[in-house]
Amino acid sequence: MPNFYFSSMNANFLQTPIAYLKGVGPNRAETLQSELGIQTFQDLLNLFPNRYIDKTQYYKITQLQRSSADVQILGKIVHIKTVEQKKGKRLVASFIDETGEMELVWFRGQKWIRENLKLNTPYVIFGKCNWYNGQFSMPHPEMELLTEHEQGLKIAMQPVYPSTEKLSNKGITNRAINKLMQQLFMETKGRFSETLSPALLHELKLLPKSEAMFNIHFPKNQELLAKAQFRLKFEELFYIQLQLLSKKMQRKQKIKGYTFDQVGELFNDFYAHHLPFELTDAQKRVIKEIRSDLGSNAQMNRLLQGDVGSGKTIVAVMIMLLAIDNGFQACLMAPTEILANQHYNGIKELLQGSHVTCALLTGSVKKSARRPIHEQLENGELQILIGTHALLEDKVQYKNLGLAIVDEQHRFGVAQRSKLWHKNEIPPHVLVMTATPIPRTLAMSLYGDLDISVIDELPPGRKAIKTVHRYDSNRLKVFRFIRDEIKKGRQIYIVYPLIQESEAMDYKDLMDGYESIVRDFPLPNYQISIVHGQMKPADKDYEMERFVKGETQIMVATTVIEVGVNVPNASVMIIESAERFGLSQLHQLRGRVGRGADQSYCILMTSHKLSSEAKTRLQTMVATNDGFEIAEVDLRLRGPGNLMGTQQSGVLNLKIADIVKDNDILKTARYYAIKLLKEDPGLEHPDNLIVRHGYGQLVKYKNIWNYIS
Ligand code: ADP
Ligand code: MG
Repeated sequence: MPNFYFSSMNANFLQTPIAYLKGVGPNRAETLQSELGIQTFQDLLNLFPNRYIDKTQYYKITQLQRSSADVQILGKIVHIKTVEQKKGKRLVASFIDETGEMELVWFRGQKWIRENLKLNTPYVIFGKCNWYNGQFSMPHPEMELLTEHEQGLKIAMQPVYPSTEKLSNKGITNRAINKLMQQLFMETKGRFSETLSPALLHELKLLPKSEAMFNIHFPKNQELLAKAQFRLKFEELFYIQLQLLSKKMQRKQKIKGYTFDQVGELFNDFYAHHLPFELTDAQKRVIKEIRSDLGSNAQMNRLLQGDVGSGKTIVAVMIMLLAIDNGFQACLMAPTEILANQHYNGIKELLQGSHVTCALLTGSVKKSARRPIHEQLENGELQILIGTHALLEDKVQYKNLGLAIVDEQHRFGVAQRSKLWHKNEIPPHVLVMTATPIPRTLAMSLYGDLDISVIDELPPGRKAIKTVHRYDSNRLKVFRFIRDEIKKGRQIYIVYPLIQESEAMDYKDLMDGYESIVRDFPLPNYQISIVHGQMKPADKDYEMERFVKGETQIMVATTVIEVGVNVPNASVMIIESAERFGLSQLHQLRGRVGRGADQSYCILMTSHKLSSEAKTRLQTMVATNDGFEIAEVDLRLRGPGNLMGTQQSGVLNLKIADIVKDNDILKTARYYAIKLLKEDPGLEHPDNLIVRHGYGQLVKYKNIWNYIS
């Protein structure tokens, strides 16, 4: 039975600077710090192996494969020579076992090695083999005399630690790290304070901390290794969830919000008489969730996720009416002028027949038109303000902003969002709407302290978009298809990639494409719009308008149309060089069509040269329309850090767990964190002192919680 309270001296001891560990010293300490971020004994302990090698098995030289991974061979050196080459000398040894012969090669440290190697003495060597000059060679093998090897710690699984070139150049090899780890275990006697409560250990049958630490670094066998990994991954994820959840709890207790306790006339009248369609069940559920937030006296900080076309706008409108019913103002912020315009027009139309006052504020609204907006906002005459970043300017002062809605959140920085907060003493309720589905696993880790509502249902009657992948060589067929669709009265998008770094080239691709389309679809039968980033905003809007009004049949564009544009009559989305787009971008683009009653199509055009990752992306797009499924694949392909493109990924800087692969453990950890906080919110029960202590340590030593909201 481990002693849970063993040595609280232990915790302090583990904060000893790494330079003081025997075998380290100031030089190595500096390298360990700069390369691996290791400053203390604790940090070294928490350097977990990337993988393990089974050293229970010896390979024979004749069994070696050209593709072989790290192998262990028993044999002896029969000859050593120095070979001169253009770039310097190398030391080459002939190494044999009873089946054959191979070479061992050194480029560095030759003098020392030459002096210390023993001829005709059994060695156990270990490393990666190359096939070179008709024979296998192993550069810089790890070597141990068989006699030493037999005396060494008998471990079946050899850990492989993260490494860098600089580390190995400075002699801090995997073996060296392994030695340091052994030293550390000797100095601590391998006894570490327990960090999880007896109840959790018991219920989940977890290995005690000390045993887990030992087996993660010196696994006795596969089974114990697996148990150690589970225990440590669980611990890591559990504490993260505990932090996120208690942060959420604190926010709800501490940050006061306005209480919208009336469901007033505007909301009821709209619901009874002006809804243009019946709400989907998902929309109803989400409105209910938001209403219950607004009815409490805590500030709402909610993320509303809904795939493109799932109908988030109407939800926003109804919530804004609720704010006005309670005597507050509301604002809606969109990332682009086009979108702000579209929201403004759409919302005005929905609010026809009500007396709600509503204005649009974007960068291109003239100064003379701004003044009355500012005034009416300040005296409370204006109830809803819709716009772009312009809403965040200092001049914009509200009488009593009660609700801020942010559309397409991923375009806004955290800083901008928090600016909205500081407009009042009591912060407005914040609803962030996003069409980029965030995989559940990621949402739990990144936004675990936000409330999340999901519209997981499309309005009825939508036909699923048909998606196909076509090669450039089939272009003529695709053009014929476009012609047929235009004949039926439909409109077409053709989108070109525009990636920042190679803008000039992308721009040329776009113009070449445009010219060839103009050639194939000539005036006067065909009208074509073009929109790209290098155009003036006014020209962009003009071209966009023509397409929206149906005056042009084809819209050639770069990804500027990615977000939000609504043209229900457009039924075909052609994406050129589709292999160059990320999954979420492809999905966003596809969402521009399928908004009307007609069958819609998405055609992914590519060359024949495709990476396997690109193939997976294309196959996924063809196989499913489900944004959440696509987001999960994206997460697997790109990893969590890249996916969110965010500095918030500090939370994802995990030491041992992987939120994608360890999804199940994450769920378990979240479940137990919720349960614990429900039973004992202050972690005051004696059983939970350990967790409370662990939580405190985390805050003290890991600075990963200063992110978001
Ligand atoms: P998004 O979630 O992408 O912002 P929108 O709010 O723009 O979606 O809605 C997309 C389209 O679906 C709009 O034309 C809207 O009028 C329509 N719509 C939304 N909800 C429903 C519904 N419950 N029934 C029918 N059509 C709906
Ligand atoms: Mg929208």
